[in-house]
Amino acid sequence: MENLENKLKVMYTEETIQNRIKEVAEIIDKDYKGEELVIISVLKGAVFFTVDLVKKMKTQIELELMQVSSYKGTQSTGNIIVKKDLDSSIEGKNVLIVEDIIDTGYTLKYLQEYLQTLNPKSLKIAVLADKKARRKADIKIDYTCFEIEDKFIVGYGFDFDEKYRNLPYIGYVEN
Ligand code: 5GP
Repeated sequence: MENLENKLKVMYTEETIQNRIKEVAEIIDKDYKGEELVIISVLKGAVFFTVDLVKKMKTQIELELMQVSSYKGTQSTGNIIVKKDLDSSIEGKNVLIVEDIIDTGYTLKYLQEYLQTLNPKSLKIAVLADKKARRKADIKIDYTCFEIEDKFIVGYGFDFDEKYRNLPYIGYVEN
């Protein structure tokens, strides 16, 4: 496999990412004002963001992991399946979905509708990156760290063929 790392351009440095996550963590803490919160981290990409976010928060959290995928090819099609479901009930609880990126929005739309059927007290969404120009599904995002251009990003949880997730910065591939 070619070495992509030499071709990557830095979009956000580690420091920029961490500073922005701190700001968002403080906003989330203010919004929940000491209430408890279930964080649902969406595997695999959001794990990196989730860990850094919750470590910067004061809100008491429970952590849940879910995995979903679209079942036709690599393109997001709207045909989503749950590969890993919740371990505990979210009924009557404040829930925050933590996702790496919203692109078309089909994945988060599906997740939001599914989780809403489980009767949480509240349901919000936090994303690290938002590619607004590519949105197809109508969905409200409550917390966004970075609005980005339509570029393919890699690093800090974002993979290229399952690799490079552990880069501490977010890079992009020149089109
Ligand atoms: P959506 O359903 O919003 O179109 O798709 C979101 C999913 O597409 C993300 O969870 C992520 O897996 C993938 N994705 C979208 N844009 C990018 C990108 O720039 N880089 C990487 N690595 N994955 C992306």
